[in-house]
Amino acid sequence: MTKTSPDVVIVGGGHNGLAAAAYLAQAGKNVLLLERDDHTGGAAVSAWAFEGVDARLSRYSYLVSLLPKRIIEDLKLDVELARRRYSSYTPDPGHPGTGLLVDHGDDDATQDSFIRVGAAEDIEAWHAFYSDTARVAQALFPTVLEPLPTRSEVRRLLADDALFAALFERPLGETITARFTNDLVRGVVLTDGLIGTFTSADDPSLDANRCFLYHVIGNQTGDWDVPVGGMGAVTGALANAATEAGATLVTDATVTRVTPDGHVRYTLDGVEHEVTARHVLANVAPYILEQLLAEGAANEPSPAEASGADASAIVRPEGAQVKVNLMLKRLPRLLDTTVAPEAAFGGTFHINETYTQLQTAHDEAEAGGIPRLLPCEIYCHSLTDPSILSPELAASGAHTLTVFGLHAPDRLLTAENNDHMRARYQQAVLDSLNSVLAEPIEDVLMTDAHGELCIETKTTLDIEEALNMPGGNIFHGPLDWPFAEDDARLETPAERWGVATRHPRILLCGSGAVRGGAVSAIAGHNAAMAVLES
Ligand SMILES: Cc1cc2nc3c(=O)[nH]c(=O)nc-3n(C[C@H](O)[C@H](O)[C@H](O)COP(=O)(O)OP(=O)(O)OC[C@H]3O[C@@H](n4cnc5c(N)ncnc54)[C@H](O)[C@@H]3O)c2cc1C
Repeated sequence: MTKTSPDVVIVGGGHNGLAAAAYLAQAGKNVLLLERDDHTGGAAVSAWAFEGVDARLSRYSYLVSLLPKRIIEDLKLDVELARRRYSSYTPDPGHPGTGLLVDHGDDDATQDSFIRVGAAEDIEAWHAFYSDTARVAQALFPTVLEPLPTRSEVRRLLADDALFAALFERPLGETITARFTNDLVRGVVLTDGLIGTFTSADDPSLDANRCFLYHVIGNQTGDWDVPVGGMGAVTGALANAATEAGATLVTDATVTRVTPDGHVRYTLDGVEHEVTARHVLANVAPYILEQLLAEGAANEPSPAEASGADASAIVRPEGAQVKVNLMLKRLPRLLDTTVAPEAAFGGTFHINETYTQLQTAHDEAEAGGIPRLLPCEIYCHSLTDPSILSPELAASGAHTLTVFGLHAPDRLLTAENNDHMRARYQQAVLDSLNSVLAEPIEDVLMTDAHGELCIETKTTLDIEEALNMPGGNIFHGPLDWPFAEDDARLETPAERWGVATRHPRILLCGSGAVRGGAVSAIAGHNAAMAVLES
């Protein structure tokens, strides 16, 4: 066994781990980052998913909203984010020959579209609601790279108690149903509260509210942009920043245990290594960190601290999505002939996501089944950024499509039924998609080098296996409010930055930190700041 002693060891090389490594190395720290996969990036990667097809798909995460411009500037990241002209398109499931197209580039067209789906009375409400969420974004987003504000401070910053109550204290469903009348419009608003979050609109836990908030505050606008070159380009830029600053990134290095006093054991090429550091940053989910600590406690009890290493202290998270990547020969024709496929697929394409459908699908999944009409969100990366396709593919009219199916909770999956359930979810996604198309999606799918249809489906269990995200939860666990409660302990730098664990030398540095969810690098930045203040 070899032993070394860097200043900071980072467990996991997801984009947050890389961001922390870059900030710390730039500040002169000796940083060792250990990643179990053969590449860095975690859920923010690109991949050639289909043999013989020259397209680099963002395999898991695909859009960027929450990555602060300040981090891009601080780390001099060569990252370009492309704005999408269209916000969303939602066919009316009752009349799939029509749908709601929200066009950032043409307010009149958007207004006509509201009228066509019978939602004229919601036009003003729509503008008023999103001007309210913009005010929340402007108040809240500037705080995410600072020590945590308290709940009262955020309320003061917002300076609108009624709005604070509506979004932070009452179930999201109450606010949506009070402000909108049309079922389809209500559904479009609600979906932002359900991404990766298995809950219903009126759940008093307010899980949907927290998820919604993360979807509307990014960079003070809530816009979701396409990373040019795919998610791998974001990760690549962060990895470059870290290595150029002098951090050591080691792939194929699986951490097997962590102790509260800063020992980290890992295996690399079948050989065990141990490092000891002043700080250990956990880019892995808090639940995984607890398992690594429990290993440390079992093998090397430290009387003062071993009692803190309790894997049962954190509930196993649960994801609730199915992710499907597709390669198309061309965009499919829609039942709604009034909208060009380039416009419909140019933003977020919502399928079977009226408010009623979302609630029904939740209830069906909670009862143990696959929703009869799976609610899906669809994105076409290549319409906004063809650079992920070879020039030949782009010229041929081919496109990538990525589907995020909701209400597919991990509790329904087991190692034994996963293959069967993957096939069923895949079919549910295709059926849902076909319910709004004028031709079967299967007819426009490309085939790979083996003649197989270009379709890749990832269940929550597949994501857990690939990324070590427990329960396939895309945020490493339930999202927190992006502030501290008024009575929270904010004594140590780690507590103030929202990255504390029960052990002073071990800090969170991933999606599971306060303000960590999504591709934002915020948790990496904040963990680095906490280390530098210690
Ligand atoms: C299907 C899907 C779609 C998503 N879509 C979006 C989206 O469009 N936009 C968005 O903003 N967010 C999206 N997300 C969420 C977002 O991708 C994650 O929240 C974010 O990437 C988490 O980054 P991270 O660096 O904190 O952790 P991760 O990306 O989870 O990285 C953690 C790293 O730790 C490594 N690791 C785990 N265990 C060990 C160990 N024992 N030893 C060493 N290394 C270990 C893992 O291999 C991984 O590389 C999506 C996620 C998924 C899964």
